[in-house]
Amino acid sequence: MFEKVLIANRGEIALRIHRACREMGIHTVAVHSTADADAMHVRLADESVCIGPPPARDSYLNIPAILTAAAITGVDAIHPGIGFMSENANFAEMVEQHGFTFIGPTPEHIRLMGDKVTAKKTVKALGLPTVPGSDGAVTTIEEATKIAEEIGYPVLIKAAAGGGGKGMKVAHTAKDIAESYQLARGEARAAFGNDEVYMEKYLEKPRHIEVQLLGDTHGNAVHFGERDCSIQRRHQKVIEEAPSPGLNANEREQIGALAAKVIQKIGYRGVGTIEFLYEHGKFYFIEMNTRLQIEHTITEMITGIDLVREQIRVAAGQPISYKQKDIVFNGHAIECRINAENPETFAPSPGTIVGYHAPGGLDVRVDSALYDGYRVPPHYDSMIAKLIVHGANRNECLLRLRRALEEFVIGGVDTTLPLHRRLIAQPDFINGNYDIHWLETFLAKL
Ligand code: ADP
Repeated sequence: MFEKVLIANRGEIALRIHRACREMGIHTVAVHSTADADAMHVRLADESVCIGPPPARDSYLNIPAILTAAAITGVDAIHPGIGFMSENANFAEMVEQHGFTFIGPTPEHIRLMGDKVTAKKTVKALGLPTVPGSDGAVTTIEEATKIAEEIGYPVLIKAAAGGGGKGMKVAHTAKDIAESYQLARGEARAAFGNDEVYMEKYLEKPRHIEVQLLGDTHGNAVHFGERDCSIQRRHQKVIEEAPSPGLNANEREQIGALAAKVIQKIGYRGVGTIEFLYEHGKFYFIEMNTRLQIEHTITEMITGIDLVREQIRVAAGQPISYKQKDIVFNGHAIECRINAENPETFAPSPGTIVGYHAPGGLDVRVDSALYDGYRVPPHYDSMIAKLIVHGANRNECLLRLRRALEEFVIGGVDTTLPLHRRLIAQPDFINGNYDIHWLETFLAKL
C-alpha cells in the first residue's frame, strides 16, 4: 500500500480523499494556490505545498508544479480528485512517467471514454444500448440535416470532447440546424479546443440514471447500483438520489450487470460511472466518467462501502474487497449540492463565512471544507457543501432531509439552501415524479 499520497485538488473533495487516506494510515500532501493557503484541506493534510497563484490554470492545472510538489515531498501516488486533472490522460501519463502511481484508470481508458464518439462506438459494440444518432462525427450542416431527417426532430448536437453540458445544442426543426450546429461547434472549440460534434435524438422526458462501477487489475468488476441525477440545471446536477424512484429491482440488476460486464471486458481499473438516459422503460448510454463523482456519497450511504478507499486499494494493485453478492443496498440516500450562489439568479457569491452551523444527527453527512471565518474565493467552482442524508426508506430519507436543511446555517454569503428547501417540498419531488427537464421548468415558472 502507498505510504504517502498527493491530493491534486481542493475543497470538499480534497478533504474527502484526505479522510480515506487517513483511515488507511496513508500520509497526505495537500497542494494549494495562494488563494487557498488557509483552506481546510491544507490545514488537515500532513504536509502542504503552494503550487501557484489563484487562477486554476496557474495552480491546480499546472502540471510541472504538481509533479514538482510530488517529487519534493516524496509521495508514491497522486489522487486527482474530481474536475481539474482527473480526466486529463496526458497528466495521468506524465504522473506514471515520473514514477508515481495515478489513482485512476490508465491513460488509454481516459482517452477512450473522453472522446464521446469513440466511447459510444466502443460500448455499443460491447452490448450497451445507445441513443439513436450519427454513427460518428458530423462535419457539415448538410450532413447534420440529413441525419436529423433520419432520426427525427428534435435532435441534439453534442461536442465529442463534451463535459459539464458545454457544446450541446438542441435543434427542434430543420430551420434550427445551421445555427445549433455552429453554436455547438463554437462552444466546443472555446471550452475544449476541439470542435468535433456528433448528433443524437433529443429525448423529451428521460431520467438521468448512472451506474457506479469499480474494476481492478485482477480481472474483477462490480457495480454498486444506480443513482438518479435527473434534477439538473443547465445540465448540471443539483440533487441526486439512490436508488432511483423510477426503477424496479429487476431493471437495477440488469443494467448494473450489463455495465459491469463492459468495464470488465475492456479491463478497466478504478472507479468509474456509466451514465444513461432512461425513458419508457429503456436505457440509452450517454457517457462514461473515468473518475470519482461528486455524488459517489449517496452510493456509500446505501452500501456502507468507502468508494475512495476501494479506489486507492485498486490503484495500489489490490483486488476489490467485495464480490458482487456482498454489495447489498440498504435504504435510501439523497444529496443536495449547496452552492455559494444567489438562490434565484444563481450569481456566484464569494465572501467570508459567518455563523456556520452544520446539521447532524443519525444518518446525516456533510461533506464540506467550510468553517466559520473561511473566505470562499471567487476563483473556483461555487459548490461549497454537500448535504447527504440516509433513511431506512425514501420517505424517512425525505423527512430527515427536510429536518437537516432546516438546521443548516451558512451565513455571510448567498447559498442555494433556500432553493433546496423549496425543491424537496414540491409534490413532484416527493412523489419521485420528475425527469431531466423538471427543474428548469420549475425555475422558469417562478
Ligand atoms: P456532459 O459530458 O457535458 O455532462 P452528457 O452527455 O453527460 O454531457 O449529458 C449531460 C446532460 O445533458 C444529461 O444528463 C442530460 O440531461 C442531457 N442530455 C444529454 N444527451 C441527451 C439526449 N440525447 N437527449 C436529451 N437530453 C440529453
